[in-house]
Amino acid sequence: MIVILFGAPGVGKGTQAVILAEKLGIAHLSTGDAFRAAIKNQTPVGLLAKGYVDAGDLVPDDVVARIVEEAMNGEEFTNGCILDGFPRTRPQADALQQLLSAKGLAVDKVVNLEVDDETIISRLLQRGRADDQEDIIRNRLAVYNAETAPLLDYYNDAGLLVSINGIGDVNEVSSRIVAALT
Ligand code: AMP
Repeated sequence: MIVILFGAPGVGKGTQAVILAEKLGIAHLSTGDAFRAAIKNQTPVGLLAKGYVDAGDLVPDDVVARIVEEAMNGEEFTNGCILDGFPRTRPQADALQQLLSAKGLAVDKVVNLEVDDETIISRLLQRGRADDQEDIIRNRLAVYNAETAPLLDYYNDAGLLVSINGIGDVNEVSSRIVAALT
């Protein structure tokens, strides 16, 4: 099963992806985590990505494709995966479709987690990651609205989108997601 966890930064995609991957027994790919690891290890992709991640801007699609392709060739992805933070642009959605169809796979569901902006900002300020300063958070939200949110129409038209209320207890939200997938 291929599930995309979709939503603005701070809606809880990362937390829910970990729980969901465990519950469904499939792999979890967070492109944000992959970039942070690459930056820490100063790999070529990490060096290319650093400035964008620090500023809360999107890493260019060709660099994203490199990290996703590499990850999805891993053995653990044969049973499917939870995609967390990818795709974030229409070219990335097209690249994903190509990558999956080459393996005889397709996206099964896109779970859109919905949380209002003010709750997102207070959650992220509490989390305190390097890119969780208020001006960078606001930029990430603006980038989400401009470049990523339009994918909702694309996946809705494809009949794959399901929207879930992301406010509430972590386990409660997780149960809502599982219910939507079964
Ligand atoms: P995240 O951990 O998903 O909040 O991502 C943190 C940062 O990594 C983002 O603000 C972007 O700079 C970068 N990033 C992660 N995933 C992508 C993606 N699919 N496309 C472009 N940039 C990404």
